[in-house]
Amino acid sequence: MLDMITALLSRATLVLLAWNLRLRRRPSLVGPAVLPAASSRPCPPLTPLFYTALDALDAGLLVIDTDRRLRYLNSVAEEILQTTRQRALDRALIVLIRDYQVDTLVGEVLRDGETREMVIQPPMEGRTLRVRATPMVLDDVPVVVIMLRDVPQIGMLERARRDMVANVSHELRTPLASVKLLVETLQSNPPPAIASRMLDQMAHEVDAITQLVDELHELSQIESGRVALQLTPTQLAPVITRALERIRPQAERKMIRCTTRLPETLPLILIDDGRIGQVLLNLLHNAIKFSPNEGEIIIAAQPISVDPQGHLITGYPSPAVTLPPGHGSGDWIMITIQDSGIGIPGQDLPRIFERFYKVDRARTRNSGGTGLGLAIAKHLVEGHGGRIWATSREGHGSTFFLTLPLADT
Ligand code: ADP
Repeated sequence: MLDMITALLSRATLVLLAWNLRLRRRPSLVGPAVLPAASSRPCPPLTPLFYTALDALDAGLLVIDTDRRLRYLNSVAEEILQTTRQRALDRALIVLIRDYQVDTLVGEVLRDGETREMVIQPPMEGRTLRVRATPMVLDDVPVVVIMLRDVPQIGMLERARRDMVANVSHELRTPLASVKLLVETLQSNPPPAIASRMLDQMAHEVDAITQLVDELHELSQIESGRVALQLTPTQLAPVITRALERIRPQAERKMIRCTTRLPETLPLILIDDGRIGQVLLNLLHNAIKFSPNEGEIIIAAQPISVDPQGHLITGYPSPAVTLPPGHGSGDWIMITIQDSGIGIPGQDLPRIFERFYKVDRARTRNSGGTGLGLAIAKHLVEGHGGRIWATSREGHGSTFFLTLPLADT
C-alpha cells in the first residue's frame, strides 16, 4: 500500500515538474522586434497560464500570424468583434475586423517590424476603436499582437454629431414639407381668401425655420465660447419686469395671470442682463406655452446661502427645494418660475435641458418650439456660474429654478 502511495506521489511530482517546465518555456514575448523572415511554421501553442492572463486584460487582444490569420483572441476581443473563439480562429483578419485599413496596418507591421496605431470605426454599433499593432516573436515565429480599446469619448462625440444632423433635418423636414405643399396649392390659383390664409400659414412655417436656424446659430456661438458675457452688478427686479412686459401679449391671449413675488430689496447680482433676460423670457414662454387657458405663473426670487457641501443653509422659504449636486457655495439669488401647466413626466425631467429634447413629441407637436431653448438657457446660466434645474408634477405644473451669483462675492 505504502509503495503504491509513494509511486503515485512521485508520478504527481513528475507531472508537476513537467508542467512547471512548460510554464517556464512560455512563449518568449520579445519586442519591438526585427522580425525573422516570414515562416510557414505554425504558431506555437500558448500555455494555459498565458491564456488566463490574456483573458484578464481589459483590452481586446488578437494574435495574428504572417498569413494575417487569427491565432488567438481573448474574451474582450470576442466581445468587441462580436464573435466566438471557435468561429474566429484561423479566419482572415479582414473577415473579422472588416476594415481594410487594419489589414494594411498589420501587413506594414509584418514588413518592417514597427509598432503602429490607428483609430477605426468598424461597422458595428457605431463604436470607435483604438488599434495598436505590435510585432512580436513567439518561439522564433513572427506574429503581430493587436490591442483593441474602445474610445468612448470619440465615439460619443461622433454620435452627438450624427444625432445633431438627424435632429436638424428632422426639425426642418416638417415646416419645409408644409411650405412645399402650400406653394404647390398656390400655384393652382386658389380663390383669394384661401390664398391669403395659405400665405399666412407659409409665413408661420418660415418663422419656425428662422427660429430654428437662429437658435442653432446661438447655441453654436455659445458652445464654441464666442459669446462673451458683459457682467455688471445689476438689479434683478427690472430684468424680470422687462421680460414680463415682452411676454404679456402671449399671456393675455391665453388669459394667464403672471404674478411676481419679490422681496422689497434684493442684493445686486453679477449678470449680463440681456442674456439673463433672454433666459427668463424663454422660461416664461414655455410656462405659457405648456399651461392651459386661465392658468397662473408665479415668478419669485430670494437670496440663499449654500454651505461648502452644496447644501442650502438659509434663505429659501420652502424646505422642499434641493439644490442640484455640486452647486457652488456662498451667497446667491435663486429665481423660481412656477406654472400650473401640463407638467413634465419624471423620466423626462433630467433630459429637458438636452439639445432638441422634447417631451412626447405628440403632446408638443402643435406648440411649436425647437427643443433648443432650455439647452441655451442652461449654457447661459452656467456661464454665469449658476445652475438651472426643474421640478414638476405631471398634470399640476412645473417649477424652474435658477441661481445667479451676487455682485459682491
Ligand atoms: P421648446 O422649444 O420645445 O419649448 P425647450 O428646450 O424650451 O424647447 O423645452 C424642451 C421641452 O421641455 C419642451 O419641448 C417641453 O416638452 C418641455 N418643457 C419645457 N418647459 C416646460 C413647462 N414649463 N411645462 C411643461 N413642459 C415643459
